[in-house]
Amino acid sequence: MSPANGALHQSAIRQLVALGAVMLVPIILLGFVLAGSYRGEANQRGLAQGRSEALLMARSAIQPLLDGRPLSQQLTPLELARLHNLTNAVVTNGSVRRLRLRSLDGAVVFSDDGSGFRQKVEDEALAAARGQTVARLTRFNSDVVDKGRVGSQVVEIYMPLYAGAHRGRVGVLELYLPYTPIRNDVNAGLGLLYRNLAIGLALLYVALFGISYWVGRRLRRQVKINTYQAEHDALTDLPNRTLFHRQAKSELLRATKRGESTTIAIIDLDRFKEINDTLGHQSGDRLLTELGRRLAAHLRAPDSLARFGGDEFGVVLSDLSDPEVVLRRLRELIHTEIEVSGLPLSVEASIGYVVAPDDGTDVDELLQLADVAMYVAKNDRSGIVRYDRSQNHYDAAKLTLVTELRQAIASGQLVLHYQPKVDIDLQRVTGVESLVRWEHPTRGLLFPDRFIPLVEQTDLIDDLTAWVMRQALDDLGRLGPPFEDLSVAVNISARNLGRVGFAAQVIQALAEARVPAERLTVEVTETAIMADPVRAAAALSEMTDAGVRVSIDDFGSGQTSLGMLSKLPISELKIDLDFIRDVDTNSAHAGIVRSIVELGHHLELTVVAEGVETVEALSVVATTGCDLVQGYLYARPMPLVQLVAWLDEVSVAPPVKFALPLSGFNRTLL
Ligand code: C2E
Ligand code: MG
Ligand code: MG
Repeated sequence: MSPANGALHQSAIRQLVALGAVMLVPIILLGFVLAGSYRGEANQRGLAQGRSEALLMARSAIQPLLDGRPLSQQLTPLELARLHNLTNAVVTNGSVRRLRLRSLDGAVVFSDDGSGFRQKVEDEALAAARGQTVARLTRFNSDVVDKGRVGSQVVEIYMPLYAGAHRGRVGVLELYLPYTPIRNDVNAGLGLLYRNLAIGLALLYVALFGISYWVGRRLRRQVKINTYQAEHDALTDLPNRTLFHRQAKSELLRATKRGESTTIAIIDLDRFKEINDTLGHQSGDRLLTELGRRLAAHLRAPDSLARFGGDEFGVVLSDLSDPEVVLRRLRELIHTEIEVSGLPLSVEASIGYVVAPDDGTDVDELLQLADVAMYVAKNDRSGIVRYDRSQNHYDAAKLTLVTELRQAIASGQLVLHYQPKVDIDLQRVTGVESLVRWEHPTRGLLFPDRFIPLVEQTDLIDDLTAWVMRQALDDLGRLGPPFEDLSVAVNISARNLGRVGFAAQVIQALAEARVPAERLTVEVTETAIMADPVRAAAALSEMTDAGVRVSIDDFGSGQTSLGMLSKLPISELKIDLDFIRDVDTNSAHAGIVRSIVELGHHLELTVVAEGVETVEALSVVATTGCDLVQGYLYARPMPLVQLVAWLDEVSVAPPVKFALPLSGFNRTLL
């Protein structure tokens, strides 16, 4: 038995003894109460027995001696002689201690020992004279009127005497019966009763002790199970964050005492949600269980491993000269192929870690820093990163933003601004692009480049896109005539495209907002498509089949292969604004723009130039045959209310204002 088990065993025995002792108290009390009531009962039975003995004597021996006259009229010598004979016999054989006869007024008329003749009349005697029988347990000569030495216990009885042909009440019999023989008689039964009581109580004690012990054991076991469950992850059976926190704390304490270092790492699986979404939760669960088992098998005591929930694990490694070697091994273990539902799967992981005491000594702070490092590893796709305060390429404040954004979506801090897209030939606004902004309570209005790239690293981008989609379609639905042909563009991220069911969500959002699919354009960057071209193409096709238009955003800045372009179900190319802004001064950019427009038209795509800031740039773009333009020249992105006012204004005299050459275009609109 280990020392810990030994201590547990001893404490269990101590608890058992305490339980036994505590339970003995009520049992003993019950024993006393019952024994007391038995004794009371025995006395009652003793008196009853004395009473019946007295009655028997009165009826069979005394009443037949009397001639029927009241005893107040002096007993005849014959009666006296007979009475003396009788009392001699019963007193001598010890069955009676004293016998007196009294008249109905209570005066003693006969006494076997000559006592009591001039005594005060007792109440009991008078009660018996009225027909009652009074019996009590007392000591011989203990009445106040008695003179002799107080003797042993007796039953003192007063009862009426009936005599004569009419059985009239003639006097009172006062009798003292020795209690010892009666008690012996009664106690003979009482002894048995006491024995049975003792056996019964002992059995009751054993039964109650057994039940309490059994119930207690079950409760203790349940408490143990509950404690275990509260500290362990149900899926992998690994410690959860709570237990991990405790383990890390005690390991840090231990290490500090010995002057050793402790490594705390956070491991996060990459793209695990996609596995979950594609293969189902069961497969995802199996993968997590297997990974947990693998990692646990590799670690040695006193290292510890925990699952924080989702696809995140925590590790505490004690005293390693180079923790990265172990972490690299853990990462390899995760990456090693696993067969789930007959499919060979392999996942990558990003690991962030800290080393105490160099990076800190507080578990909460260390975990937070390891988390920051993990995000960095994920962002940079660098695999394993140690938190480094001196490196400034990540900013904890930025990460806080991600956390805050979740709340921001729920509490309505996000707003949409809209930027018009103008058709050069038709000289009118054909659509708007929705661009999200965050009205941050302390940092003011935040532009998407401050938070979108961060959010895109997390699943929060799903919530954000869903919100933008709903809001943009709602706003569009509300615009009403004369803008019923206006379309809206929504930017979506690579992560959205990789999500199973994303296209269906978009189609459902259209249905809920009662907006025809043709009025929605989704803008996807080349990079987003290239992250997983096959899945992106599938998701885009599902949307285009429903009527949604797809636009390739920032075209020219990525590396879409031309072959790929012809296969994708797209309707629009948006030339990256870097080529447009200086298109009038940079002939190379002008050439690129011209080529993209030509390419787009060959593929029967609409081509948009975004970032048109000057009339000069617009002139060049117009000569390339580009279809639509978007840029500060026309309007900056603006809130819906402003957009409506702007649209009203330009629609009053659109042909003039938008007519080429645009020298007449009213810059006050900007
Ligand atoms: P984008 O989709 O390419 O949007 C065009 C960006 O160019 C917008 O920046 C717009 O304000 C800016 N822009 C428009 N005309 C001009 C111009 O003439 N000159 C210059 N210099 N800039 C111009 P914004 O609003 O800051 O958005 C930046 C990027 O953030 C967007 O680029 C888009 O990739 C992303 N974004 C915006 N809203 C969302 C959204 O709801 N979801 C996602 N996933 N991304 C979004
Ligand atoms: Mg865009
Ligand atoms: Mg763009």
